[in-house]
Amino acid sequence: MFKALAELLVPSCCAGCDTPGDALCGDCKTSMSGLRVIHRSEDMPPVYALGRYTGVARRAVIAYKERGRRELAATFGGLLTDALRKLPPADLVPVPSRPRAVRARGFEHMALVAAHTTAAVRPVLRLDRRVRDSVGLDADQRAGNLAGRLTCVPTRAKVILIDDVVTTGATATACCSALTRAGAVVLAVVALTAT
Ligand SMILES: [Zn+2]
Repeated sequence: MFKALAELLVPSCCAGCDTPGDALCGDCKTSMSGLRVIHRSEDMPPVYALGRYTGVARRAVIAYKERGRRELAATFGGLLTDALRKLPPADLVPVPSRPRAVRARGFEHMALVAAHTTAAVRPVLRLDRRVRDSVGLDADQRAGNLAGRLTCVPTRAKVILIDDVVTTGATATACCSALTRAGAVVLAVVALTAT
């Protein structure tokens, strides 16, 4: 409560570079305004990212996820809306967070970003409680961590999967497989940032 009040009283600053003003300044927004192809292969939809997971973009994503800068959901949602104009129209499926992370954070961070886009949102993926934090895990370990713990509600929609950071691609691959098995047509994966 106190923190929420303090945030109302203290002037806002850029989550990327601390410049007083908007939640993300113009320069920092520019670093997350692309739509770069990260990965393209036969067995998976193309993976894109708006920016690199480094510098101010990395700082902004961490501020949103771990430092309570929830207002960045609107900023990221706007950036994502702009980027998605370059892709065919589709509903957005946010990559789900671990239930424990959602409780700690107080919100589903990618679902909240999706809610701030102009696209329809289909939160059809679910992670169960046994999934561990994937920080420090390699691609095989990440795939093992998700195996059998990621479920999808049946849907025939055309969808774009959205995530905050694409690292090894293991999470995106597992989510695309679950969506495809459930009947969805996955057109692309779009991440805010990629390593
Ligand atoms: Zn900035």
